[in-house]
Amino acid sequence: MSKPSLHDRLEGIASAAAVIATADANRLNQLRLELLGRKAGHLTEILRMLPDLAPDERRALGARANQLKQQLETAFDRRERELKELMTRSVQVDVTMPGRASWRGAQHPVTQVVDEICDIFREIGFTRIVGPEVETEEYNFTKLNIPLDHPAADAHDTFYVGSGILLRTHTSPMQARTLERYAPPVRVVVPGQAYRRDPFDPSHAPAFEQIEGLAVDEGISFADFKAAIDFFVKRFFSRDTTVRFRPSFFPFVEPGAEVDVQCQVCRGSGCSTCKRTGYLEIMGAGMVHPAVLEGCGLDAERYTGYAFGMGPHRIAMLRYAIPDIRLLFESDMRFLGQFVE
Ligand SMILES: [Zn+2]
Repeated sequence: MSKPSLHDRLEGIASAAAVIATADANRLNQLRLELLGRKAGHLTEILRMLPDLAPDERRALGARANQLKQQLETAFDRRERELKELMTRSVQVDVTMPGRASWRGAQHPVTQVVDEICDIFREIGFTRIVGPEVETEEYNFTKLNIPLDHPAADAHDTFYVGSGILLRTHTSPMQARTLERYAPPVRVVVPGQAYRRDPFDPSHAPAFEQIEGLAVDEGISFADFKAAIDFFVKRFFSRDTTVRFRPSFFPFVEPGAEVDVQCQVCRGSGCSTCKRTGYLEIMGAGMVHPAVLEGCGLDAERYTGYAFGMGPHRIAMLRYAIPDIRLLFESDMRFLGQFVE
């Protein structure tokens, strides 16, 4: 291949010059050195050769070379000014612009309620523990005085993960697990997920949070139970909130009760939330059934106790007047953002 003629070299430089208009600062300096550098710039070299050319050739090429030099200098200067302008524009700050609020993370309202409930019970001597969500039929039913053919087991129809193995339908199995592991006095609260084959509708969910409470010792009476629940309700809701105990049946307590608190919406005068009763149920509870104590190897003549189970989802709904439980599962930031403290 023959050496390119001076004319071709000049045109090569002219086409290379097209990139000047878009070069960044570094590339611009590089190009300037490559094309116009005093020692080895491509155009500088050609200009230096001009005096040795024949007069005709010198005239033609000289005119083109000088024209090109001017074009390049103009292009370099223009691009340099542009880059300088861009630099100053990017550091300009408008101090009159309103500030952007920073994102603040927070705990889910149900988690907040769980922590608050456990903290309140800690003040009266309860320890927070957790237990397995996958349980055996024995702990979920039998040890809680619920024979498998008992109608109460039907009401708990649940998700089986294997023969005799299921997702716990309540946190109550931890009553037996705790009593088998620790000698009285025992005072525990057990938050955790429970599962039931319920439809996902405004007031039901197939997976929900529950908090189990258990106190077993010598000489614990129903009065102790009422006092503990009253203390909790007044601390969690308000000092003037009244509590109501209604007799109810749960196989693992005797006597059993459902605990209602004064409706937080109407303060007891009756509204649609409380179905005109003035009260809302927050937990099932009662004195631990002697059969449960005996089943865990405790002397039911010597030890007594109380147990309760409540639903933090439901309690969060009551406290914040949330109409649909599904809002607590949907992770919608517009909803959850309201609970950032
Ligand atoms: Zn009401």
